[in-house]
Amino acid sequence: MMLIGGPGSGAGTEQTGDAMSQTTIAVIGAGFSGTLLSLHLLRRCGPGTQITLIERNSQFGRGQAYSTGNASHVLNVPAGRMSAYHGQPTHFLEWAQKRQGEASGDGGLAAGSFVPRRLYGDYIRALLKEELKRAPERRLDLLRGDVRAIDRSGARLGLHLDRGRVVHADFAVLAVGNFPPASMPVADPSFYDTAFYRPDPWACDALAGLDPTAPVLLIGTGLTMVDVVISLLDQGHAGPIYALSRRGLLPHRHASGAGQPIAAEHAFPTVLTELLRFMREEAQKARRAGANWQPIVDEIRPFMQDVWQIMSPADKARFVRHLRPWWDVHRHRMAPAVADRIEAARASGQLQIIAGRVQSYAPEAGSVRIAYRPRGTDGVRTLAAARVINCSGPTADYDRISDGLIRSLLADGTARPDFLRLGLDVTGTCALLSRSGAISRRLFAVGPVTKGAFWEMTAVPDIRRQCEFLAQHLSGLVKPAAAAPAAERPLTFSI
Ligand SMILES: Cc1cc2nc3c(=O)[nH]c(=O)nc-3n(C[C@H](O)[C@H](O)[C@H](O)COP(=O)(O)OP(=O)(O)OC[C@H]3O[C@@H](n4cnc5c(N)ncnc54)[C@H](O)[C@@H]3O)c2cc1C
Repeated sequence: MMLIGGPGSGAGTEQTGDAMSQTTIAVIGAGFSGTLLSLHLLRRCGPGTQITLIERNSQFGRGQAYSTGNASHVLNVPAGRMSAYHGQPTHFLEWAQKRQGEASGDGGLAAGSFVPRRLYGDYIRALLKEELKRAPERRLDLLRGDVRAIDRSGARLGLHLDRGRVVHADFAVLAVGNFPPASMPVADPSFYDTAFYRPDPWACDALAGLDPTAPVLLIGTGLTMVDVVISLLDQGHAGPIYALSRRGLLPHRHASGAGQPIAAEHAFPTVLTELLRFMREEAQKARRAGANWQPIVDEIRPFMQDVWQIMSPADKARFVRHLRPWWDVHRHRMAPAVADRIEAARASGQLQIIAGRVQSYAPEAGSVRIAYRPRGTDGVRTLAAARVINCSGPTADYDRISDGLIRSLLADGTARPDFLRLGLDVTGTCALLSRSGAISRRLFAVGPVTKGAFWEMTAVPDIRRQCEFLAQHLSGLVKPAAAAPAAERPLTFSI
């Protein structure tokens, strides 16, 4: 094998040349999760295992988070905690310092620095390029394509791609990441088809052609909204920016001062009410000591997956229904420089945060009138905006995702949403559960797709550990096979 449909290959190509002595693991999606998983698989699986990394976008290794070209879109985790490798915590920091030193002659970047997300994408791509260069043994193929369905009726999986291409694999891992926000139900959904509305804040037309003095409404007040406000300010937007969500909660900022560590003898409760009480008491202790609360969240985070897996289903549902917005604003925080800009925009009155619920949209000449019910009132207020951008965060309810692969996996019963509607249902070892609850031996998932099982599976520090774990697990499932002659295999796609 192994590159199907690389430049020059025709539509309808069927992979045929694959040596049966080889095991192929197809990884669908080359964002952070898929790329890192592939690198770990290469380290752990023997020479008889071939990895095919499939990505529908032009750039491998960036995904949605690390594609932004805007240098003001910085990481919301300090550089010292963004290593791709759990066991080498300073790997990214050292890479970035070297890169910065080469560019500017100094190495002023510190563990606490918040660097552009684009740079992080460069880092992941550099890791991938390094692996591709590692001659002579090329066991990683990059395939540009859109996986639309997976046929699991044969001895091997058949991955159906665009242009009629089919790739066969023994195992496949969904690393498909996040999907654009869902539109909120409103009285007249035809508004969502008008030119006033932008359903995807990451699409290149989200802010295009906007009058810089015009009012804009952002639906959602989390980190996606923060990114869009920063982009608007960067493009010189001077008009009012309204950001509306049900509770109007803004992400907190990262702390610069000292924190109060949780006493080592304290164990983390797994009953929701007890956990809440514990965190409140720790926060009060920190406040009394004049310290920051942020390290409390950071200390519990590495244990959150364990807490989640032990917590009762009823407590999980309560957490998602009632506490999630508060957890999110404490857990997903703004870099200090970003928080400064947001605070300045609020202080000047340009950015207004509204707690409320949209009731209706009424397009008028050149703008749209939005009626909303402010939180805790029965009244209705209105505002006008030239554009409404959905910043409500990724859609996690897979029943509402229109993506072809997801629709097909749900339709044929290969997968099912988890009961909390946070992603797809998987086991503790990341195996997909079918509609009837059967555990797949060949289909797995990594990254945000698996949030239902692990909850804390959003950011790099969690996903990198999951990738290491899944690579190890898959390497144990791969049957030992004779090494195939890999050296002459052409690498026909460049990242
Ligand atoms: C805007 C933003 C900022 C973030 N900032 C940080 C941060 O500062 N620090 C941190 O730790 N975490 C951050 N995160 C969280 C985390 O790092 C990302 O969510 C993580 O990168 C997820 O990676 P992924 O590969 O699972 O998903 P994605 O990045 O979404 O990548 C999935 C890839 O799969 C491809 N794909 C999907 N379906 C198919 C298909 N059918 N066929 C082929 N290809 C397909 C997509 O094109 C995409 O490239 C951020 C997330 C976002 C969205």
